[in-house]
Amino acid sequence: MRFATLDVDGQSQLVLISDSGESYQPVAGILPGVTHLAQLITRFDADRATLAAAQDWRPVAGARWLPPLLPRRNIFCVGKNYHEHAKEFSQSGFDSSSVNGEFAPPAPVVFTKAPSSAIGHGATIESFAHITQQLDYEAELAVVIGKGGRGIRKADALDHVFGYTIVNDVTARDLQQKHRQWFLGKSMDTFCPIGPWVVTADMLDGANLGVQCRVNGELRQDANTRDLIFDIPTLIETISAGMALEPGDVIATGTPAGVGIGFKPPRFLKAGDEVDVHIEGIGTLTNRVG
Ligand code: MG
Repeated sequence: MRFATLDVDGQSQLVLISDSGESYQPVAGILPGVTHLAQLITRFDADRATLAAAQDWRPVAGARWLPPLLPRRNIFCVGKNYHEHAKEFSQSGFDSSSVNGEFAPPAPVVFTKAPSSAIGHGATIESFAHITQQLDYEAELAVVIGKGGRGIRKADALDHVFGYTIVNDVTARDLQQKHRQWFLGKSMDTFCPIGPWVVTADMLDGANLGVQCRVNGELRQDANTRDLIFDIPTLIETISAGMALEPGDVIATGTPAGVGIGFKPPRFLKAGDEVDVHIEGIGTLTNRVG
């Protein structure tokens, strides 16, 4: 199943999305009182059959896409998690985190983006031209946590995954470099396009999904999640080792090679550019730079 949050006539609604992606049903119309994805996640197994039987479809056309869930706390992100990207980043001169010139990190590089940076499919990425001239894109598969927990072992990790969505980890490279810590350059308002929807884990194998990014239709990134340096179970084990993961937490798993700083000279985003992030089995997240 696929779940999204739509703005319908000014009202935010958690919705079930049809297979075609063109129709929806408000979840609250099927399960009264369930208005946010984090609420649904905790009762999904019990209500799955009821949701599957509902047949009150309405056209999506005319509605506005919001983030499928508004994370209650920071979005967990993983840096340098594909070999070719780790290499292009280390060689770009923008990487202030590399030790002794290494490319691939010896342990997952975990940072976060503020929840206030999240925007939906179709929303505008602000260019912040007064503080950055080096705006970049990063196509990523994101995991949505279902069952929470601390000390989750790799072998059990996939039992804690509710589903998957798409994140564009938009980054101001000059700020990422200048401040050493990545938070400011990655957490500006509108810097976390997410969606259009969350696909439940039973529909996908997160360990084998094609990931592509296009800028104005030109293919820039083209990889597969099987090439992650640290796979999804390892990321869940690592993050949950000392802090409890909660239902609705989001983990963006890292971006492959082909970001703007991977080109010589670098190819940064500019106002008017359209960025499409496509992930096999999920769909396409499209945002324009304003
Ligand atoms: Mg990233």
